[in-house]
Amino acid sequence: MPTARAYAANSATTPLAAATIPRRDVGPSDVEFDILYCGVCHSDLHAARNQWDAWPTVYPCVPGHEIVGRVTKVGAKATKFKAGDLAAVGCMVDSCGTCASCREGLEQYCDTGGTIFTYNCPDPHKTAPMTYGGYSERIVVKDKFVLRVSEKLNLPAVAPLLCAGITLYSPLKHWGTSPGRKVGIAGLGGLGHMGVKFSHAFGAETVLFTTSESKIEDGKRLGADEVVISKDADQMKKHNRSFDLIVSTVAASHNLDPFISLLKRDGSLVLVGAPEHPHPSPTVFQLLLGRRSLAGSAIGGIPETQEMLDYCAEKNIVSDIEMIPISKINEAYERMLKGDVKYRFVIDMKTLKA
Ligand code: NAP
Ligand code: ZN
Repeated sequence: MPTARAYAANSATTPLAAATIPRRDVGPSDVEFDILYCGVCHSDLHAARNQWDAWPTVYPCVPGHEIVGRVTKVGAKATKFKAGDLAAVGCMVDSCGTCASCREGLEQYCDTGGTIFTYNCPDPHKTAPMTYGGYSERIVVKDKFVLRVSEKLNLPAVAPLLCAGITLYSPLKHWGTSPGRKVGIAGLGGLGHMGVKFSHAFGAETVLFTTSESKIEDGKRLGADEVVISKDADQMKKHNRSFDLIVSTVAASHNLDPFISLLKRDGSLVLVGAPEHPHPSPTVFQLLLGRRSLAGSAIGGIPETQEMLDYCAEKNIVSDIEMIPISKINEAYERMLKGDVKYRFVIDMKTLKA
């Protein structure tokens, strides 16, 4: 079995460290590519530290699901790609392919529970007990789950689009983001900064909610018409009953009521943040009196992810990144916990070989 260099978490409490992992041989429908850059999502930290009761981590865990690189080999049936092409993989590498959700291109919601996530998911190929993600030099993925990337964009800054980008693009489209709509994005991190960029690009009145005074200027530069400090009750109150949609990317448990009270009648608060501990239950009357919705959304399907990448190439939208060598990954996690990321760490994967 071929092997690849990688970085892995070996327990919830030890730092990530160099590892060697198996990668399967290229099958007829597979694409193999050298990973050039991999974004660092807060989900990588949640997984490395086994923070989700609903999805326990099996060790070793190789995180990373914002993966871009260059194709090295393709199977005979993988005709969408050829060696030398740019390629990308996000949070999924397979699904049942036949249920209603898969047929609609919503593989992340596979009705049979058959979504195979890029890491920490039982590996159907049995290459290893679990799937291993992008903190590695190479990956082999079924062609249907490999995305095309434009040569026009700055490649390292494209990587975060594969999770942070699509996770905001999809709910903003689904719940409606267009001129005349007022849309809020809560939390200015990896996901949040893509939310601000997309909401602005789609023409909505865009408001950023942040807990960090130091991010006000950046919020405006990224496309927010207004920035509200969410801890300041007076600032929040000024926006009572005015939002069509608020998407919360906040990575920690928090009180949802202050956000729900800002929704118009029929407005929606959509949670994409996936904190370790649950949010306290919101006040039911705030939902009843206003017919408001509280909802959730997970990444986006393969067709929509390709649509998002093509849209970004057309509009010249990428992530704001700080490049790090793989040796700085543990430090990057600590900085992420302090909200000290502007606005996505991306690992330069050639530092894995050095
Ligand atoms: P991130 O870069 O760390 O950003 C999270 C932001 O939340 C912070 O920058 C901060 O923004 C805000 N925040 C406020 N209070 C916080 C606190 N006590 N602790 C941490 N953050 C706090 O994280 P991310 O990569 O954008 O991911 C955000 C969440 O989405 C994570 O839970 C991740 O697992 C989840 N996620 C979900 C999906 C999905 O499909 N639904 C996909 C990817 C990630 P301010 O400084 O502006 O307040
Ligand atoms: Zn992610």
